[in-house]
Amino acid sequence: MSQSNDIAGLIRRNWMRVTDEVRQAAVAAGRAPDSVRVIGVSKYVDAATTRLLFDAGCCDLGESRPQVLWQKAETVERAVPENANRSLRWHMIGHVQTNKLRRMLPLGPLIHSVDSERILRAIDGEAHRQERVAEVLLEVNISGDENKTGLSPDAVGQLLEIPDLNSVRIIGLMAMAGWGTEPSQAASQFQDVAQLRDRLVASGGHTLPELSMGMSGDFREAIAAGATMVRIGSALFEGVR
Ligand SMILES: *Cc1c(COP(=O)(O)O)cnc(C)c1O
Repeated sequence: MSQSNDIAGLIRRNWMRVTDEVRQAAVAAGRAPDSVRVIGVSKYVDAATTRLLFDAGCCDLGESRPQVLWQKAETVERAVPENANRSLRWHMIGHVQTNKLRRMLPLGPLIHSVDSERILRAIDGEAHRQERVAEVLLEVNISGDENKTGLSPDAVGQLLEIPDLNSVRIIGLMAMAGWGTEPSQAASQFQDVAQLRDRLVASGGHTLPELSMGMSGDFREAIAAGATMVRIGSALFEGVR
C-alpha cells in the first residue's frame, strides 16, 4: 500500500471514531445522535490531506486563516463534483481581518469568530456589495481570560440589537474554554454560554440555534451543555503528522 493510502485509511478511521464518539455523547445527553455537526479543523495539514478528510465523509471544514481557506477551497472543491450529492461548507474559525472579506465571502463560509461591532459591520457591508447574506456566530469570551479573544456577554447583547444589518445573519454563539481549563471547569463555562444564549433568546426575540463549542479535548462536555457544532482538529489527524 502506498503511503497516501495509509494516510487516507488513517483519516477515515479517525473520522469514524470521532463521529461515533460525538453521536454517543449526544445520546448520553438525551439528544438526537445526529444533532451535533463535526467541523473538521484542517489547519494542521496541507490541501491534499484536507481533501482526504472530505473524502472520508467530513462536509464541514474549518480554517483559522483566510488565505489558507481560499487556497484550499480550490483543491478540495475539485473533489465535490465526483461526490455530487455532498456539499462542502467552509468555516472560518480564526480572527477575521476586514481586508480578507472580499475574497472570502464568495465561498459562503460560516464565520464563527465575530468579536467586534467593527467586523460585524464590515461583513454586512461587503456581503451587501456582493448581494449575499453572510452567516456568522458571535464569539463570546466566557472564561474571562484577559488575553483571550471574544466579546463579553454584555457586548454580545449589544451587537444583537444593532438595527439595519440586512446582509448578515447572526445564527448563534461560539466559545472556547480558557487555556489549561480542567474538563469540569470547561463544562461549567459551556453551560454559561448555553444560558447566555437562552437569556438572549428569551429577552430579545432572537433566534440563535447554533452553539459552536468544544474541541478535541473537551467536545463531550460541550455536547452535554448543548453544542450543535464541535470544532475538532487534532483528534482527526492523530497519527498523520
Ligand atoms: C485549532 C482550533 C480548533 C481545533 O482544536 P483541536 O484541539 O486541535 O481539536 C478549534 N477551534 C479553534 C478556534 C481553533 O483555532
